Amino acid sequence: MVEAGEWTRGITRLAVLTGAGISTDSGVPDYRGPDGLWTRDPSAVEAFTYPRFMTDPAARARFWRTYAGHPAWRAAPNAAHRALAELQQSGTAVRVLTQNVDGLHQRAGLPARMVLELHGTIHEVRCTGCDIRTPTAATLARVHAGVADPRCDDCGAILKLAVVLFGEYLDDLVLDHARRIAAAAQLLVAVGSSLRVEPAASLCSVAVRAGARLVIINRDETPYDDLADEVVREPIGQALPRIVAALRDNRAALAA
Ligand code: ZN
Repeated sequence: MVEAGEWTRGITRLAVLTGAGISTDSGVPDYRGPDGLWTRDPSAVEAFTYPRFMTDPAARARFWRTYAGHPAWRAAPNAAHRALAELQQSGTAVRVLTQNVDGLHQRAGLPARMVLELHGTIHEVRCTGCDIRTPTAATLARVHAGVADPRCDDCGAILKLAVVLFGEYLDDLVLDHARRIAAAAQLLVAVGSSLRVEPAASLCSVAVRAGARLVIINRDETPYDDLADEVVREPIGQALPRIVAALRDNRAALAA
């Protein structure tokens, strides 16, 4: 076990960048790990690109079939999600920038306004015509009832899960907001992200350039390891609760 280092001292503004690795303990598979979605079915990567989704009804039918059975629907938050929510409740300003679309940070008790979903959410469906957003459950009920390619009730256009697909750009406003949060943080902790998907990963350099400390918790090496004050290889479900406890204790010591 590694003790949490000097970098936990005096932190009152924390940003946490989270990737698929934080949710694997909840049973949500990652993408490129040994049991990852893309590892098991490489052809899904091509099928689930934005251009394919928008032009190929068969790709859309496959997409909805895949997501109707997605493990995220049954997943519950784990110790790492809960640790971040508890830190926020104890008075530290915690902002989560997540690459995940599973909504587990909010389910663990973090207020939605503290969570920026860089790649969108599976819990909403967006109409590609009139832009209306609706809860995904209603669309999935139609898929389960046999509708292969559900369309908007209002305008008839293609419905799309409100997640960013391959070949689709991140929302500029969301990304700009994320950069400002990273730049304002005293410490950025990157958790369970391979840090290989841009522009999300570059939030690490945004934070460091603005003077923040950077800590990376990830099973495998990342392109940003050299920039980090510390790299933690311990399992996330152990590492994050321990680091959160150190942050809370050091903050309490600061206030005393
Ligand atoms: Zn519509």
